[in-house]
Amino acid sequence: MPKNEGAALRVLVCDPVDTIMLEMLKSKGFHVSYEPSIDNATLKDKVSDFEILVVRSRTKVTSDVLKKGQNLKVIARAGIGTDNIDIKFAETKNIQIVTAAGSSTQSVSELSIALAVDLSRKITILDRKSKEYILKKDTGTELFGKTAGIVGFGRIGYATAKVLNAMGIKVIAYDIQENHALMDEIGGSYVSLRKLLENSDIIFVQATLSDGSVNLISQDDLKLIKTGAYIINTSRSEFINGPALLMALKEGRVAGYAADVLWHEPPVDEWEKEIISMDNVIITPHIGAQTVEAQQRVAHYTVSNLLKKLQEMGI
Ligand code: NAD
Repeated sequence: MPKNEGAALRVLVCDPVDTIMLEMLKSKGFHVSYEPSIDNATLKDKVSDFEILVVRSRTKVTSDVLKKGQNLKVIARAGIGTDNIDIKFAETKNIQIVTAAGSSTQSVSELSIALAVDLSRKITILDRKSKEYILKKDTGTELFGKTAGIVGFGRIGYATAKVLNAMGIKVIAYDIQENHALMDEIGGSYVSLRKLLENSDIIFVQATLSDGSVNLISQDDLKLIKTGAYIINTSRSEFINGPALLMALKEGRVAGYAADVLWHEPPVDEWEKEIISMDNVIITPHIGAQTVEAQQRVAHYTVSNLLKKLQEMGI
């Protein structure tokens, strides 16, 4: 059981999680408060009462929150992608971060493939029309024999590539860290971002966002994209310049966009709302990790990584 000078460590779970996580935390002796829809103002008011925060991607752990959290020791990100946590500021306060890396790889890669097939065969588009009794036989494209470009060949990128490979799709990838053993396994190759954009029929954005990679695919980069290509984004929208994407979609240079993430969730800017409203755009509400299996894995990985970290810290 984690120590806290005789008292149970207090955990505030800030986002919706599987009940299994709450049960696991309680069974390990933590004092758990569950506030799955807490807003940032309330979080700032309450955070000083807790040693541990558990967050998914909705809650923003800003420097303002961290400044108020004088008792905080660990922030557990129940998932992967820590761009909602001010990590640099947390480091200055000696607050440790743990994640559940790997827990949702399968679920997110399956969603990526589903979105790719959906865009290329216009399933959602035609479903919307069919529900208005417009039974239009629009022509799609096969993915077989095409080239997929993966931006960020990490866990999810690799899992997606394995399926693409089995579907007869050639894989190229751009990553700032190259793992040639994994790439060789699927018979793909690393290329520059420019080459990827110029040569891919379908682009998957699956990298981890950092300050330096916001607008990685800029207005000029979008002009390099092969006309008629599709983009699938299950990582973070900030990788792509949104207003420039809107132009590329309107001009038909990008044939379709499918994303599990938005620039703001829910959307704020007019250009963002316009993208969402387009016929050839499919948006899912950040459900990449929202499967029974992934949420159970998230619970196990988060709690076990949290316990390991506390042990390391001697708590
Ligand atoms: P990972 O760490 O295994 O892989 C990320 C890869 O991105 C790494 O290989 C890294 O080198 C690469 N990368 C980082 N910066 C880059 C850049 N500027 N250009 C090119 N490559 C870059 O992570 P993962 O488990 O594959 O997850 C990837 C991302 O997917 C997460 O960071 C998160 O944003 C997103 N994600 C989304 C959901 C969802 O619900 N939609 C769920 C889980 C993860």
